[in-house]
Parts: sequence; C-alpha cells; structure tokens
Amino acid sequence: MKLDADILIVGGGLNGPALALALASGGLSSVIFDALPLATRRKPAFDGRAYALSLTSVRMLGALGIWDIVADEAQPMLDIKVSDGRPGEGAAPYFVHFDHHEISEGPMGHMLEDRYLRRALLDRVKASKLIRQIAPARVVEQMVMPAHTEVVLDDGQVLRGRLLVGADGRRSGVAERAGIARSGHDYHQSGLVCAVKHELPHNGVAYQQFMPSGPLAILPLTGDRSAVVWTETTERAAVINPMSDKAFMAELHPRFGDFLGRIKLVGKRYCYPLDLTLATETVQSRLALIGDAAHGIHYLAGQGLNLGLRDVATLGEVLLEAARRGEDIGNLLVLQRYAQWRGVDTAMLTASTDLINKLFSNDNFMLRTARVAGLGLVDKMPGLRRGFIREAAGLSGNLPRLLKGQPI
Ligand SMILES: Cc1cc2nc3c(=O)[nH]c(=O)nc-3n(C[C@H](O)[C@H](O)[C@H](O)COP(=O)(O)OP(=O)(O)OC[C@H]3O[C@@H](n4cnc5c(N)ncnc54)[C@H](O)[C@@H]3O)c2cc1C
Repeated sequence: MKLDADILIVGGGLNGPALALALASGGLSSVIFDALPLATRRKPAFDGRAYALSLTSVRMLGALGIWDIVADEAQPMLDIKVSDGRPGEGAAPYFVHFDHHEISEGPMGHMLEDRYLRRALLDRVKASKLIRQIAPARVVEQMVMPAHTEVVLDDGQVLRGRLLVGADGRRSGVAERAGIARSGHDYHQSGLVCAVKHELPHNGVAYQQFMPSGPLAILPLTGDRSAVVWTETTERAAVINPMSDKAFMAELHPRFGDFLGRIKLVGKRYCYPLDLTLATETVQSRLALIGDAAHGIHYLAGQGLNLGLRDVATLGEVLLEAARRGEDIGNLLVLQRYAQWRGVDTAMLTASTDLINKLFSNDNFMLRTARVAGLGLVDKMPGLRRGFIREAAGLSGNLPRLLKGQPI
C-alpha cells in the first residue's frame, strides 16, 4: 500500500506545524490539513493573542530554526508580579515578585505575538521537502486499518499514513470521530483581549492581578506596549465587549491603574469564552492528540501553547526513536510512551490552573484575606519562589531533547 506520508496531521494552527517540523528534522514526512486557507492563517494582522513562551519553549523554537526568525519581535519577560486586587483600588499591599535573577538560566520566558510565531512556523513548513500542506481542506472521516490510517477530505480525496495526529484544537473532530470523550467545564468567564501602548516603560515585567471576576494579566510586548488579557464573568464580558473603544478603555482603566502612565488602545479587541476541555484519552492505535485537542485549559497561567509544545517535543522524540529502532510508529505500545511521559505534567498543570482560578476569582472576605496573606508569605520564601520560577520557565520534570534546545 502506497502511503502519502508517515504522519497525517489534522490542524495547521501552531502545534501541528511545530510537530511536522520536529518530525522532518529526523526524516519523517507529514501532510498537514487545515480547514482555513494558508493565506488566512498567515495573515499578519494582530489578532490580540500574544504568548508567554517559557524558556524551554524558546529553546525548542531555537532548535527548530524558528527563534532566529522571530527573536527581534519577542520581548524578554524578566519579572512577574502577582497580586490580589479590586477595580479602582489598585493591587493589594502584598504581592509575589518572581525575579529572573533567582535562576541562572536567564529570562523565564518571552512574550511573542501570535502573528509572528504563526507566520514563521508556516514559512518553515513551506520550505520543508518532507512536509506537504493541503488547505483549505476539512477532514470529514478517518479510518484505522491494521497497517495504516486513512482520512477523507471534504472534496472526497483519501490520504494514507502510518499515524493520524489530531492538532485540531479545543473542539477536536479527530478525537470525536475516534469516540474519545471529553471532560471539563465552562468557567462562565470570558477573556477580553487587547494590546495597549503606554507612556512609561514596562521594563520587561509581567503583572497578574487577581480580581473578583477573574485574573487581569498585563504582559510586556516590544515598544512600550502590553498585551491585556482581562478575564470577566461571561455576563459582564457580554456587556463590555460590544462597547465603543472609549467606553471599553474607561472600564479597563480603574483595573489597569496608572503605574505605566497614560494608556492607549492599539489594534482590535477580542473576546474568547473560557472553558476547560480535556480528552479522556490522548492515544489510540494509529492516533495521537496534541495541543488544545488534548487539553484546552484556562488562559490565566498563559501555559496553553507551552503545554502543546511540550506534547510536540515529546511525541516527536518518541516517534523518531521508534522509527530509528524500526518499530511501527502507529503501534499503540509506541504511542503509550508519549501518553505516559506527558500524563503527569498535563494533569498537574490543568489541576493547578483550575484551582488557582477557583481560589482567586471571587470576592469572599475570608478567601481574600487568606490569599493576600498567602501571597505575602510566598514572597518571603525564596526556595518556594524559585520553584515557581523554574515551573513557569518550564524547567522542571523529565524534559525531551527539543525542550533543552537539542536536536532530536
Ligand atoms: C487570548 C488568548 C491568549 C493566550 N495566551 C497564551 C499564552 O500566553 N501562552 C500560552 O502558552 N498559550 C496561550 N493561549 C493558548 C494558545 O493560543 C493555544 O493553546 C494554542 O493556540 C493551541 O494551538 P493548537 O495548534 O493546538 O490549536 P489551534 O490553534 O486551535 O489550531 C487548530 C487548527 O485545526 C484546524 N481544524 C479544526 N478542525 C479541522 C478539520 N476537521 N479539518 C482540518 N482542519 C481543522 C483549525 O482550522 C485550526 O487552524 C492563549 C489563547 C488565547 C485565545
């Protein structure tokens, strides 16, 4: 049976192309399908999204030849300040200050706008002889055969590979067609996302302020700009989102405060509903899920993409090692190595993000007093603080080679 590629990847967002590049670096071929045309996904307009890429994600992008293309657009994230707060009152007196000097590896991460990362990934994919892109093309059917897997596209084309990877986002059709159930819940919150320009420099500091309705993140971008991810109850977000820019800024201002001087909206505003959606299985025979298809988490920790890139690095390493040993890369025993390696990290991050959101997104007097005191305490405990910094930088756990910046 003639195969079209070793791996068929559904989803040409961020994790799908990253996986194809990782696999190509070790000689495995892929076809990527995406329902959206390439030009739409590559469009340079700022769509509000910017990623807090952990140190290990940055190393991985370096090893894949992406970081050199985007480095000039990335803002090093030197410090993170976390506090409790209420609109109009500013931050509470106690906060935790995570200072990158506490670890020897350098900045704990970089902020990078989605548009730059997406374009760099897609351009590298286009240049690879081992990767073919078919778009716009919607995958409508998939079949597992003893020695291969098949997908059917909406135009009737059938393509074959040894393994099917679902990188098709939070509502993964690949998972659904495979009968993989999802667990999770609606946070009844939405993320209001925009970028602002400010008078004073941010000095590379990211701020996370926990408001009763949800966290407000102010994340440093290049050129005296910051990305704002403002989490509100869905009800309140539905009122704020349609407002004029002027009225929106009047709502944002008491939450944002004056510490960066005058602020001005730049670019468009977006509103994303927030839910937790976890696939109950990430592998089956000839099938693996990565990125948001496997786990769509709350944006508050800014870890969704980092988590996805850790999937990519791990699956890439498992598959390339299996191929070098002459194993069938679609075999369930091979794929279970990936699922086991990723399981603990994903479960821990998902649970902690969920818990932090529950503990902090409310105005309960007792909880507020306890968390303000708790933040003050953590700030006084350098060992614990360093642990959090290493976690945010992605340095803990058994890291696959790409996350150490090494080729697979
Ligand atoms: C406002 C906001 C801020 C965020 N901030 C951060 C942050 O700071 N740090 C961080 O790590 N993460 C962050 N995230 C999360 C991050 O954006 C996601 O984790 C990441 O984009 C997921 O990428 P993906 O490739 O897995 O899925 P997606 O980007 O969702 O891509 C899925 C692709 O699959 C395609 N597709 C779907 N179905 C089909 C089909 N049947 N056939 C063909 N193609 C199909 C879609 O067209 C799409 O292109 C943020 C998210 C948002 C919304």
